[in-house]
Amino acid sequence: MRMRDKVAIVTGAASGIGRGIALAFAREGARVAIADLNLEGAEAVAGEIRDTGGEAIGVAMDVTDEAQVEAGVERVASELGGVHVLVSNAGVQMIGPLHEMPFATWKKMLAIHLDGAFLTTSACLKRMYAQNEGGSIIYMGSVHSKVASPLKAPYVTAKHGLLGLCRVVAKEGAAHGVRANVVCPGFVRTPLVDKQIPEQAEELGISEEAVVKTMMLKDTVDGEFTTIDDVAEATLFLAAHPSNALTGQSLIVSHGWCME
Ligand code: NAD
Repeated sequence: MRMRDKVAIVTGAASGIGRGIALAFAREGARVAIADLNLEGAEAVAGEIRDTGGEAIGVAMDVTDEAQVEAGVERVASELGGVHVLVSNAGVQMIGPLHEMPFATWKKMLAIHLDGAFLTTSACLKRMYAQNEGGSIIYMGSVHSKVASPLKAPYVTAKHGLLGLCRVVAKEGAAHGVRANVVCPGFVRTPLVDKQIPEQAEELGISEEAVVKTMMLKDTVDGEFTTIDDVAEATLFLAAHPSNALTGQSLIVSHGWCME
């Protein structure tokens, strides 16, 4: 029960990696808010947790909307009893070559990944500082926080940016016992990646199998996808670590794709 008595907000937790993290946190005793654009999906994950004896709520939240973030975090704090952990995980992928990329695509990507991280961080820090019980913020980075790939300019830019935000939160939060870290997964089979495989195949004129073998998993040590459970376990480890010894760090979970 590594998360007993903790209240955790996981954004983008109606699906994929966020859902896996929410379920793992609940198993370890946390009261969990499933915050997502997709309220129906969020309610379903919260229902799964309650069915197994845990405590969870679904919260409608577009992380790019300041009012929705503020209202959602306020609801979590009052209904679940504070905020101790934030996992800023909501994200999307939109690919294309830079010279053809619409400005609107660039802005949308940075809004979801970076504005979303800022708004949720700011709203949670206010509560964490006022509670005076410390806290832990985890950003869902990516191997693309460390390396670049073609066709992914806004994603790579945003994921690199999260490292900077994390390090500032680590420095500002230290006096309040608030830690910040980044988890950097390799490719995980979620709807986000399943959508990308045919898109990349079309963009590059190669087969879907070639996208997986010669691009996505090419540099792993064993040709394996990272799993949702792998990422959830790494996130749990960082969220539950009890001291400031682990803050301002990034942990790569990628089957050796990136060893930086
Ligand atoms: P996913 O598509 O399965 O889930 C993403 C969730 O985010 C969805 O439930 C969606 O509704 C929600 N979301 C999207 N925009 C939102 C918004 N504006 N406000 C609130 N919720 C919103 O994707 P996933 O693969 O689980 O990705 C989760 C995170 O992990 C993302 O930040 C992604 O960049 C990161 N990541 C994924 C992989 C991978 O290979 N799947 C690898 C590295 C990092």
